Amino acid sequence: MKTNKIKIIIILLLIFSSFSYAQQNPFMDYVLSWDGESSILEVELTYSVSQKDSTVFIFGDPDFGGQNDIFNTIKNIRVSKPEELRLDEANRRITVFHNGAKKNKISYEIDGSFNVDKPTVASQTELFRPVITKGMLTMVNIHFTMKITDESNPLVSFSWHKYPENFTYFNSVQPSQKNPSMRFTDNYDKLSHILYFVMGDNIDVKEYNVMGVPYYCVTTIEDRYGNDLQGNFIPFFESYFPSIHRFWNDTDFPFYSLTVTALQNNQKEIGAGGFGIKNGFVMKLGKKFDTREKYVTAHETSHSWIGIKMMLGHDSFDNQWFGEGFNDYITIINLANSKIFEKEDFLNYMNEDNFKKHYKSEIKGVHNDSIAAKYWTDYANYGVLPYKRGLIYAFYLDNQIRLASNGKFTLRNMLLDLHALRRTKKHDEILTVDDFIDVGAAYLDKKELAEQIAQHMIEGQPIDFTNIKLIDEFDIEINDGVPKLSLTGNSDLLKIYRW
Ligand SMILES: [Zn+2]
Repeated sequence: MKTNKIKIIIILLLIFSSFSYAQQNPFMDYVLSWDGESSILEVELTYSVSQKDSTVFIFGDPDFGGQNDIFNTIKNIRVSKPEELRLDEANRRITVFHNGAKKNKISYEIDGSFNVDKPTVASQTELFRPVITKGMLTMVNIHFTMKITDESNPLVSFSWHKYPENFTYFNSVQPSQKNPSMRFTDNYDKLSHILYFVMGDNIDVKEYNVMGVPYYCVTTIEDRYGNDLQGNFIPFFESYFPSIHRFWNDTDFPFYSLTVTALQNNQKEIGAGGFGIKNGFVMKLGKKFDTREKYVTAHETSHSWIGIKMMLGHDSFDNQWFGEGFNDYITIINLANSKIFEKEDFLNYMNEDNFKKHYKSEIKGVHNDSIAAKYWTDYANYGVLPYKRGLIYAFYLDNQIRLASNGKFTLRNMLLDLHALRRTKKHDEILTVDDFIDVGAAYLDKKELAEQIAQHMIEGQPIDFTNIKLIDEFDIEINDGVPKLSLTGNSDLLKIYRW
């Protein structure tokens, strides 16, 4: 009896302390409403005040998709007396003067109207916009939430007050939550990663279990391109994702979501676009799902390791030859391993998309440090350069490691060591090019490896394949300075790339 009493007291104390903690914590509570028909999302934000006199919010982010006019989407901003409002559209600043108000609340509307009579000229128009139209809503938190200007890191919660009952709902933070009226909460700094919402009457969410990791596949059901998107992705869940988890020996993910919705435009074909979110990837499709889209899906989801878990340098631009190029090589060999890319697709990707484009590029020899400045302004030349430069070197390095170890080791072994090294470092420590060389020294001559990276990846001199030996299964011939890869005899990609 005595012990029971102590337990009860302890439990009461715990409840009480967590209650008082919740009361003191700064918070932002978003309540959303949409009728499923209109282009208006109604937002009600109740929040705690950290500065006594006023609160300054910033709305929108011109960096997200390069949209500078995002302030046009927010309308009808209101506060209740005694609070007062001041808008500074040029700086996207919204100031609320509290004037002693006990409760702090701001309401506004997000206009996600999409003019279907006006043809879309690029998938980006819709990709980086809130889409709120009859039967369909897709948006990221940047499209409707407020940025705060202090360091209070509040708890942020979202729930839906009004929504169409029969629509399918998905959110990328708590994807298992299917009821929009259920509130979900996270820390403000965690939500600075992108949160994605989908709601619609033409949406299907399928759940998969890939080696213990919950995967969510969110797609439109029907589109004007005749796609069967859920069907298109089955090989990814059955082969590609298991393949890449096995490649990295890593299933340490809370979940992963793949969200692919058709664009609402009325054009015949406007390509596809996408962006990464925390534990997921979002794609918008304005065409038939095809080889290119398979590759994009594989490349983006592969970034969970090289790009997200592992990066060389402080910034993703420092060594894109690794962040993009090595990721791309991992992508393509996993597409081969999972039989989504057969021999022809694999060789075509290596030869047409990489060797040919890279060796014919006028700027193939520019220094690594000159890429970042022209990455976006001259994407066709500079943007694609590190992908191709890095992929070609990864292929070469893989061959070197296989030859030096008589087939015992591959590039995978070196990358697994690098991944292990990453996990021994603290969160704020970075992986460096020197780490890459140190790890590679277990497989190749360290001095040679360091020279190769300096010469080919940093200074940018293209690798001359004329006198380079590859494993017996590969053959390379040079025509007009362009290497062309082929498989010798009956060589089988599934035997070369297996794990
Ligand atoms: Zn990438």
